[in-house]
Amino acid sequence: MAKSCYVHIPFCGSICYYCGFCKSVSSNAVKEKWIDQIHKEIQSKPISSLDTLYFGGGTPNILSKEMFRALSLPLMEFLDSDYEWTVECNPEFITENQLQEFQQLGVNRLSIGVQTFQDSLLQKIGRHHSSKQAMDSINLSREFGFHNLSVDLMYGLPGQSLDDVIRDLETFFSLGIDHLSIYSLQIEENSIFGKKGICSCDDELEADMFEQIVKMCKKHGFEHYEISSFARNQQYSKHNLSYWTDQDFYGIGCGAAGRENGILYENTKDLVSYCDRGPMPSFISETIQERAFDSIMMALRTQFGLDVTAWQKRYGLDFFMQYKNVLKKYLGTYLCLEKNHLFPTEQGMEILNTILVDFLSEN
Ligand code: SF4
Repeated sequence: MAKSCYVHIPFCGSICYYCGFCKSVSSNAVKEKWIDQIHKEIQSKPISSLDTLYFGGGTPNILSKEMFRALSLPLMEFLDSDYEWTVECNPEFITENQLQEFQQLGVNRLSIGVQTFQDSLLQKIGRHHSSKQAMDSINLSREFGFHNLSVDLMYGLPGQSLDDVIRDLETFFSLGIDHLSIYSLQIEENSIFGKKGICSCDDELEADMFEQIVKMCKKHGFEHYEISSFARNQQYSKHNLSYWTDQDFYGIGCGAAGRENGILYENTKDLVSYCDRGPMPSFISETIQERAFDSIMMALRTQFGLDVTAWQKRYGLDFFMQYKNVLKKYLGTYLCLEKNHLFPTEQGMEILNTILVDFLSEN
């Protein structure tokens, strides 16, 4: 039975130029219909207890206080005593009232979408908050008792230099936050950048940026615990770890994905259809081999790696026989095997996609 739940809130104040997620700028009437469907969807799930609850988007903190409460109440009763409840927040919409409401409801982790601390770059990517607003919202969150904070940054932005990335990281470290998620810009075809034919920065610069990020994070005591995630004081994202360790999770809302009884599904991405007819999930049929490969792919994203014994038991396959060539090629410099756990070295993380292609070819 799944112990994690992702709820997708597909509303935003405006559309960022790089964004390819499921989102819209909608009226309150649409949001009312949406929330009715969310309630029906929650009721249709066999949820009994949750270790982690994650509100992602879109922009979850664009919801009014009343709507946020209405969304939360039916899920709160399932939270276990040691739960993690994360809400993704856009600094543009963080207010004292909202933080007070989050505290009262029991939200205990905020993931703040800063993207960059430089105003000129924020404008270039279509973000409507300033760097100061981002920093003020982080400080305000702390004042309201939120100490489990994560910041999202991006690199490889149009016109961003290596020095810009270094400055962003220095600002991030000065804030004393224990978790960083940092992603390179991917140009999605359906984003404004994609439609305008904007290209991502060149591969060499992007690789230099990534190398610098890893170096600086390590210097500041962060573990590179997942390919795009860094944490200090073991402040890992418990919710994301459930994805990376092959656990089931409920996916609720328009544009959400989930996995129940090992079967992946994706809800409709069309908000009008969702409001009228509910999630209409598409189930993704996978062979055991495909599921077994997905499990390897997710586990190798992390420093904790793959528990080979558990994997063999779960999928009924002989890992060492099946992947003998790829293991021969990468074990040592790029992959490590300790106590039957296979994990990537730092060099392995840098070429993870190549390693995974080789795993896939042996599937
Ligand atoms: S990046 Fe986030 S805030 Fe911007 S449009 Fe996409 S979902 Fe909305």
